[in-house]
Order: sequence, then structure tokens, then C-alpha cells
Amino acid sequence: MQGVDLHTHSNISDGTLSPEALVQAASAIGIHTLALTDHDTMDGLLAAEQVAHELKLHLISGVEISSQWSRPATKKSYGVHIVALNMQNPAPLQALLMDQKRIRAERARQICDLLIPLIGQDIYSDVIAKVDHIPDRVTRTHIAKTLVEKGVVSRPQQAFDKYIKEGKKAFVKFEGPSLTETIEIIHASGGFAVLAHPTRYDLSATNIRYLIEIFAEAGGDAVELPPAIEPLSTRQMVDRMIAAFNLKVSVGSDFHGDNMPWIKLGNIPRVKEGQIGIWESFA
Ligand code: AMP
Ligand code: MN
Ligand code: MN
Ligand code: MN
Repeated sequence: MQGVDLHTHSNISDGTLSPEALVQAASAIGIHTLALTDHDTMDGLLAAEQVAHELKLHLISGVEISSQWSRPATKKSYGVHIVALNMQNPAPLQALLMDQKRIRAERARQICDLLIPLIGQDIYSDVIAKVDHIPDRVTRTHIAKTLVEKGVVSRPQQAFDKYIKEGKKAFVKFEGPSLTETIEIIHASGGFAVLAHPTRYDLSATNIRYLIEIFAEAGGDAVELPPAIEPLSTRQMVDRMIAAFNLKVSVGSDFHGDNMPWIKLGNIPRVKEGQIGIWESFA
């Protein structure tokens, strides 16, 4: 299991390494099975695959999909990230990603519009310059970085806390597909659906358990194990839910390069005895 990293970002979304440089870096530290999982795009895969082929690294096709789910009791809907892995026939997923890209591009403009009265300037052109003028690649990470460069805040985290995270004035929800629809489309593409970082959504323990339950009921395949820095009790709760619903596990660092320098490529949690890795199902 060492040498596997199934959740990473390149500069096609909010990582800082090019897809080629990411594969080179992975190979250099002994990763043999790598998934590139950019936000709502598979546009980095071709370039990554060429280098992976030269370096004899097993590159798994991947994408991190911005999805949503809701609790029937409260009707409130929550954002959730579903990592799609190892697509055999990506056409159905590519069709979904066209919608996701349109939503992402429109949302970038909407967030910048909401920021204008709050910060007294329009940063849209600077944000777009960060993504080679391809608006459907804009993530909130790019907006946060731009706010730092403009001197509006001193750190990216402050941009989230003050302006662009849920509940703040320039937050715009990502109106992506439902959890059920997302999983169906991944399966139609011959891929596996992985619930990304279940403990990173600011949910109560009850809601984390509920999320894992509805993910399993919707046909989801595997749950990402929480990073080792999280409390043991959190990990144990996730382990219990994985066992209760017969889910497989996935491991990934969620590497973002210099945008999140504390996250190291290949740094993945330990798999517990009895847990089955989703990578064992890869062709
Ligand atoms: P987006 O998909 O545009 O909503 O951007 C989501 C990305 O922003 C995530 O993948 C993280 O990389 C980053 N992010 C989300 N929430 C936070 C936060 N509270 N603090 C710092 N970064 C965050
Ligand atoms: Mn990200
Ligand atoms: Mn995510
Ligand atoms: Mn991610």
C-alpha cells in the first residue's frame, strides 16, 4: 500500500505543479500508483499520462467532483466532494464535467461581483490571469491567493474566513449534481466513487455518520481515510462506519503543491487490518 496516492491536484486546478511535474515528483519519491484528481476537470490527464508512461508509473484517471447532498429532515443541502477513479469509458463523466466547468466559470464571476462592495475593487481579471485565462479552472484557492496579493488579507485562510467560506458574504454555493447522480455517472463511466475527506466538511459527528450512510446507500464504493493528524477518535468513527456499510477505503494526500505547503505528496494514512483498498479493484 505504500507508494499509493489517490488524491492530488495539479495547476490544471488549484495545485501548483504542472501535471508533468506532479508525476515526476511522485515517481522520485517512490509512488507507483498515482491518481490526478483535479477539481471538476480531467484536462491534466493526457500530459500526466505521457510522463507516467516514460517513468513506468501507474497513473489512475481521476477527478474530484463538486457534488451535494441533503438531510431530508432539515432540507438543508451541503457541499461534498466525490473523487472518481479509474474510469474505463470517461464519456458520461466528461459530459457532466462540461456542466461543472460552466458552473465554475459563472461562479468565479459571481464571487468577484459579491466582493466588489466588500473590498472596493474588482479582482476578476487578476483571478483569471492565475488560470491562464481559462475561467472554468478558477477555484476559491485562486480567489484567496489574489486577495492576498492585493493586500486585502494577509493569508489565504483569512480570505476564506472573512469573505468566501460558507456563511460569509461572498460565498457562492457550487450547484453541482446530487450525490446519487454523481455516483451513477461515475459508474456509467466504469469508474469508482470515493467519498473525499469525510471529516473536512465542518459537519457534526452525527452528520458525518449520516453522510457516509447515504453515500453507501447511493452505491458509493470507498471512503477516504482521515489523515493521521486527526484525532484517533475521529479515525475510529470513520473506521466503524466503513465496516458497518461494507465500504472499501481509499488513501490520498490531497496534495496542492505550494498552495498548501504543509501537505506532502504521498503522505497517506495507514490502512487498518481488514480494510480493503479500492486500488485492489483497479484493472
Ligand atoms: P472550490 O471548489 O472553488 O469551492 O474551492 C475549493 C478549494 O478551496 C478546496 O479544494 C480547498 O483547496 C480550498 N478550501 C476550501 N475551503 C477552505 C478553507 N476553509 N480554507 C482554506 N482552503 C479552503
Ligand atoms: Mn483544492
Ligand atoms: Mn476536496
Ligand atoms: Mn482535493
